[in-house]
Amino acid sequence: MTGRKIPATLLVIAALCLLLTSCAVSRTESVSFFAMDTFMTLTVTGKDAPAALSQAKARILELERQLSVSDAESDIARLNANGAGEVSGETAELLGECLALSESCGGLFDVTAGSAVEAWGFLSGDYRVPEGEELAALRAGMGYGRVEIDGCTVRLGQGQRLDLGAIGKGYASREVCALLRDRGIESALVVLGGSVEAIGSKPSGESWRIGVQHPDENDAYLGIYELADGCMVTSGDYQRYFEHDGIRYCHIIDPRTAMSAVTDLRSCTVICDDACKADAYSTALFIMGSEGALDFWAQRKDFELILYTADGRLLLTPGLREGFSSSLPTEVMDDA
Ligand code: AMP
Ligand code: MG
Repeated sequence: MTGRKIPATLLVIAALCLLLTSCAVSRTESVSFFAMDTFMTLTVTGKDAPAALSQAKARILELERQLSVSDAESDIARLNANGAGEVSGETAELLGECLALSESCGGLFDVTAGSAVEAWGFLSGDYRVPEGEELAALRAGMGYGRVEIDGCTVRLGQGQRLDLGAIGKGYASREVCALLRDRGIESALVVLGGSVEAIGSKPSGESWRIGVQHPDENDAYLGIYELADGCMVTSGDYQRYFEHDGIRYCHIIDPRTAMSAVTDLRSCTVICDDACKADAYSTALFIMGSEGALDFWAQRKDFELILYTADGRLLLTPGLREGFSSSLPTEVMDDA
């Protein structure tokens, strides 16, 4: 073969220049803000990190406007006020996904919990314990099976009100990560309150170390999970609750009773590859309690679980033998 050879030193210099230019423009940026009733932090590494972050934040605020129960103009608030109506294609599709997730969780995740959430005062902060006929009516009114979706037209059952608090952040996380991936981002961490999703790993190649909040100690963790390319979502009785006559009532409602969930769990973390599923499951499995949650896991095994019980047991599914570390004693479930 003929042709002039490029000297090796020139090639090395050219490669170095390329490397330096790409390093110079790829940077890590974060933004923190309050939305969907929670504190959020998005961290992105990439050449256009600032633009990606502002697009991601705008998308979350758009979803908040669409799904909020308190913004009278939102799809969900309009449905709650009128019992039926037209919603955006996106809202209709998400509601359809909610109904399917309810079905797969034995109805314990149920977006028609809205009337009960409101009656217990978890929307207004005027907490109270509904009793007697009021409680019976709330119980009778709940039921995802009575929500009808036909294209973009949605009809709720008599007296039903929707609340997407148990899935909104998971859905927002999934949407934001899809948007970031579309922009070519290969490393990002999306923390929306108790919902955490990672694209890839840290720029250094290490996993993100995500603490699972200790229910009783503000600055302490039950343990640390090494997250890369996946989601982890936690539901717990410490996130929003009130006490009455010495009893703690938390913000998660058991659709079978319309009562604040009575469970042996303090905290339930679901780790899987889809943030919507992780969010819906964390709520439903919290209500199931440790035994029900582990049975549910044993039937599927397509996610991992970190459970913390009222008597201080820290239970893990076998996939977490590696990747989860804790200074507390842990019990790892059988893989059988
Ligand atoms: P999470 O923190 O994801 O477990 O969601 C709890 C929030 O979802 C509550 O603050 C309520 O707004 C709403 N919620 C309460 N109970 C349920 C339930 N059983 N199914 C669906 N949403 C619920
Ligand atoms: Mg949830």
